[in-house]
Amino acid sequence: MTDQPYILFAPLLNPLSDEAADWHPSGALVVDEHGRILFSGNASELPERFHGLPELRRPDIIMPGFIDLHTHLPQYDCRGKFGKSLIEWLNSFVYPEEARLADESVARDMAQRFFRDLIKSGTTTAMVLGPSFKHATNIAFEEAERSGLRIILGKMQMDRLAPGSLCEDTAQSLLDTELLIRKWHRKTPLLSYAVTPRFALSCTPDLLKHCGRIAARFGTHIQTHLNESRAEIAAIMALFPEYQTYTHILEAMGLLTERTILAHNVHPTVEELSLCEAYGCAVAHCPDSNLFLGSGRFPLEQYRSTTIPFGLGSDVGAGTTLSMFHMMRCMTYVQGSSLHPFIPLYHATLGGAKALSIADQTGNFSPGKQADFIAVRIDPSFFGGMELAQLSPLAIASVIVYRSQAQDVSAAWVNGRLLMA
Ligand SMILES: [Zn+2]
Repeated sequence: MTDQPYILFAPLLNPLSDEAADWHPSGALVVDEHGRILFSGNASELPERFHGLPELRRPDIIMPGFIDLHTHLPQYDCRGKFGKSLIEWLNSFVYPEEARLADESVARDMAQRFFRDLIKSGTTTAMVLGPSFKHATNIAFEEAERSGLRIILGKMQMDRLAPGSLCEDTAQSLLDTELLIRKWHRKTPLLSYAVTPRFALSCTPDLLKHCGRIAARFGTHIQTHLNESRAEIAAIMALFPEYQTYTHILEAMGLLTERTILAHNVHPTVEELSLCEAYGCAVAHCPDSNLFLGSGRFPLEQYRSTTIPFGLGSDVGAGTTLSMFHMMRCMTYVQGSSLHPFIPLYHATLGGAKALSIADQTGNFSPGKQADFIAVRIDPSFFGGMELAQLSPLAIASVIVYRSQAQDVSAAWVNGRLLMA
């Protein structure tokens, strides 16, 4: 809750779809005491009943906070470490780093820096793959709560082909997961749990099946990886020769649901996309990671011909930064052709909310949603002496997508409350 309702007068950019965005150079956003949006639009059209509310004014462009659909907290310090391909990179850097989070002070320090930097980057909602350890995941939830961000988080699960302390006993992994769900799932309106089997390579069929059952029992999200690289797919199909495709494995384990977020899925067959569509699964497109590891090109045109919701993910640490500005640009670069800026803008905001089935709560400025937004400073040289009012929605979206940086974020709010980075 905010302390009291207020009106924010500022330029407003409001994504509506991957083809449209509203732009109000002299905009107004009315937020009630519960952090809910009552009005967004031109200040000149502000209904009389809101006149007299406390006023805030911002010169920076106000837009919805970013939604990062896939990021790994324990890999925050692994960014930018060259590892050739996915499997080599996991073995050389990621697994040793993730094992360090058994130490509570390491887990606390990393979680604090991770959530603080999400705020500074302009991300207000994130779906996060957490540490492999119950106590470290507990710490991550504590820090998520303290941050004030909207966070969906789960303990990483692996019970085979993982080194040392990261490889869990199957029953213990499930027990720890259930305890964490009971403690944290929907503990506050901003926190929820995602059951997190890493990928089929490092999970036994027994673990995968039980993960599906636990998620169904408690109504949680599921987050896992799918079809990231050719070598990964080959290794997984060798472990599961009785299945036609990687997606069929997840189907058989009960992991394809309307609350499942599948990271990557850059090499799907037509039949696999149909399966995802039939089950109502969503996909996290992580273009920076795909470029860094050379995993492949996301078949954007194929996805756009389906109803599969997808959003953008940083996939830190294969992604090199938490900045969703960077992810929006990488979404274009990975395609090898120029994308209209409304497309990445939508998938970094409202598209991510739809993928998470929380578009009724966040993602843009429709009245009734919670006020999750950021302020972005724009270099005046971009406008060449023009006034904001002379600029089109396309011009504003273009500068946000193709020129802005995380350091241009001057402030972030969740539920109408200013966050402290
Ligand atoms: Zn990932």
